[in-house]
Amino acid sequence: MNIPCDVLVAGGGVSGTSAAVASARAGAKTVLAEKENFLGGVGYAGLHQYMCGLYLNGDVMPTETLNAGIVREIVGLLNKLSPQKTIKKIGQVYVLPYSREDLAKVFTSLCRNEKNLTVLFNTTAVSVKKKNKTIVEVALNTPVSKIIPKILIDCTGSGVVSAMAGAGFELSSPVKRQLAGFTIHLKGLKECDETLSIKVPYYLSQATNKKMLPAYLRFTTFSMGDTDDEGFCKINIGGSDNNKREQTIRKDALKIISYLADKLPPFKNAYIANTSLRVLEREGRRICGEYTLTENDVLNARKFRDSVVKNSWPIEIWGKNKGIIYKYVKSGDYYEIPFRCLKVKDIKNLLCAGRCISVTHEALGSTRVMGTCMSLGEQAGLAAAFKAKHGNYPDIKK
Ligand SMILES: Cc1cc2nc3c(=O)[nH]c(=O)nc-3n(C[C@H](O)[C@H](O)[C@H](O)COP(=O)(O)OP(=O)(O)OC[C@H]3O[C@@H](n4cnc5c(N)ncnc54)[C@H](O)[C@@H]3O)c2cc1C
Repeated sequence: MNIPCDVLVAGGGVSGTSAAVASARAGAKTVLAEKENFLGGVGYAGLHQYMCGLYLNGDVMPTETLNAGIVREIVGLLNKLSPQKTIKKIGQVYVLPYSREDLAKVFTSLCRNEKNLTVLFNTTAVSVKKKNKTIVEVALNTPVSKIIPKILIDCTGSGVVSAMAGAGFELSSPVKRQLAGFTIHLKGLKECDETLSIKVPYYLSQATNKKMLPAYLRFTTFSMGDTDDEGFCKINIGGSDNNKREQTIRKDALKIISYLADKLPPFKNAYIANTSLRVLEREGRRICGEYTLTENDVLNARKFRDSVVKNSWPIEIWGKNKGIIYKYVKSGDYYEIPFRCLKVKDIKNLLCAGRCISVTHEALGSTRVMGTCMSLGEQAGLAAAFKAKHGNYPDIKK
């Protein structure tokens, strides 16, 4: 079966859901195809606790999100569901605590309310046909086998549909690429407090130095959950073989817990309540757009005439040798992301949004966070709906 539509969004993570809702609201017949059976992507599957990239960093506690639009609406809806989860300063940055259950509810209700939007779960975009630098058909792995969109938005995180369409991309070597992450949700802790976020990495790095635990565990972090009997161990791992990494971590997880139980009394009866869906990539393909945002643009708080999104999240690199390194945008300032970073080079009707936009390895360390990805998705959705109606992208000039 073929279905024509104005806009096809591939991937229903935070960027894709925002793109699809924005496109449908702007009047475009929109289809959102998501491989899994839930919305939110890594923002749901990763067991994160905080949304980053929402606020202007500086001395003054923000009262609003830096970008208006869907991101502000989502924050408002999350706040209604859990009013106790309010903006928090961690180090030099502001974040919003959230629960993934709330995020799922918000995304489901946003999608349900759009009559122009069809969401297809368990649906993977498997190939793309192109003619004269234009995408003409996207094949899916389901009975709705082909979509004929006027515009395609790649929100797959990994940029996989752009790659299928023959778009150029950059991919850092496994040595340079940011570490991937795997989160273990622990329960049964006793009298857990904030000091564990220092003690756990300290003890684990001692254990790796003494070769009692594998070396990759030296960059593991720990944070408390909502109650004092739960916490999250975040394991950061290099390499590129996903099955191997996952098997390794799942095998080592119990060793970590029993080592911590031995060293730290709060862990004595700790048990694994949940884990992230799989080992999740921080960095993948960066699709080549009409402009590539750089580290200099980020750190010099560069502004652009065709800016669509503002961001002041630091460059946060999880590296193989040094663990986490931050480079900050000047306090109280922000940089802008131009629309050209979303326009895929040499393909007339393909946009990308979220983690796979056109940025360097360093700039991705800042643009990849959830708040920024949602705003990028929204802007891609709006531009796609505009092009579906008028035949060209909006002329964004400030
Ligand atoms: C370990 C780790 C910790 C992080 N911690 C935080 C944090 O604390 N706070 C924060 O703000 N950010 C954090 N991030 C970053 C952030 O979660 C992601 O970068 C962001 O959510 C990416 O959103 P996205 O929509 O671009 O992509 P994704 O969330 O990856 O969504 C892509 C979606 O596309 C789907 N898909 C893929 N291929 C296809 C296909 N062919 N067809 C159809 N669907 C497809 C996937 O199933 C997925 O749902 C973290 C990332 C990682 C990896």
